[in-house]
Amino acid sequence: MAGSPLPRTRYDWTRDELAELLDGQPRYRVDQVWQGLHDQGTEPEAWSNVPKAVRATVAEHLPRALAPAAESVSDDGETVKWLWDLVDGHQVETVLMHYPDRTTVCVSSQAGCAMACGFCATGQAGFDRHLTTGEIVEQVIVARRRSAEAGKRLSNIVFMGMGEPFANYDRTWEAVHRIHDDLGIGARHITLSTVGVVPGIRRLAEADLPVNLAVSLHLANDPERDELVPINRRYPLDVLAEACADYVDATHRRLSFEWALIDGVNDTDRHARELADYARPLRAHVNLIPLNPTPGYAVRGTPRARVDAFAAQLGDLGINATVRRTRGTDIDAACGQLRASHGEGGPTAVAAPTRR
Ligand code: SAH
Repeated sequence: MAGSPLPRTRYDWTRDELAELLDGQPRYRVDQVWQGLHDQGTEPEAWSNVPKAVRATVAEHLPRALAPAAESVSDDGETVKWLWDLVDGHQVETVLMHYPDRTTVCVSSQAGCAMACGFCATGQAGFDRHLTTGEIVEQVIVARRRSAEAGKRLSNIVFMGMGEPFANYDRTWEAVHRIHDDLGIGARHITLSTVGVVPGIRRLAEADLPVNLAVSLHLANDPERDELVPINRRYPLDVLAEACADYVDATHRRLSFEWALIDGVNDTDRHARELADYARPLRAHVNLIPLNPTPGYAVRGTPRARVDAFAAQLGDLGINATVRRTRGTDIDAACGQLRASHGEGGPTAVAAPTRR
């Protein structure tokens, strides 16, 4: 990121800036262009109500951020994964998931990730750069457009694609605002997921939109978490718990913990007890995700029977836990499988809450 600033792209533009660019055009014209960009999410050439010259100006000054490099479809069309080329050649991925009761897009906040969690494909591949606000918002625009074409309404946004959103806080938060303000997605339908970057949790507690917070916990004792989730050495569990408690106090929002169940690594009775003790005072909800396979991590996901036993034990210990099922197994779209190297690696899947 030390080099030249990244070019501004289509969805970096604010409405005021657009009005300035289209100076001399009547206000309704600016509205039409704004709607074409946001409500329709189509290319200027499709806006038949807008004069050609105006469309040309928009096309020239507001370049797209994302060029499709590959698209994969799975689960009978219910899951779509895009691989995008960014303007500087880096790549990111976006996953769209249709459910009976909602449609969710999983967006990336960085190209790559510096957090180095060993079980995550993005972490294994390392960090390229932060995404710009425009690059984040455009992922949502594309997903919304595709949803509309399928007769569905995009309802939920989760920042669980590539990257650590709180390592790129300002651009991510600006994108959250655009998604909320310009696309009309409610704050309670937007979820930020962090590996436990405490300063980000503290900032979110003060933020002006009540979005959901998910923390990727995976282990609730320091020696083991230090190994699996290296950022724990910087923000150990007691520091993380304090930030989470302050967040819950300040926002009265429900906190969730993500727990990728890894065979023999974090799925024993003891691990369930540690998790319960950690989650209970925070009244956190736990999402259990059987680990999805990644090329750089030999250990497997917890077998189904053990997943159910772990969930039942948490229930007995007074913790609300949801087991997520896996989607997109054949298109490398699952949690932790996004690494923007398409065509290699093992099977893939997207974790999704099972209906209860
Ligand atoms: N950096 C953020 C957001 C991206 S990861 C975070 O850590 O929360 C999104 C979720 O996928 C996290 O809960 C992460 O721990 C989980 N995940 C990563 N690798 C996984 C894998 N191989 N199998 C299942 N879940 C995984």
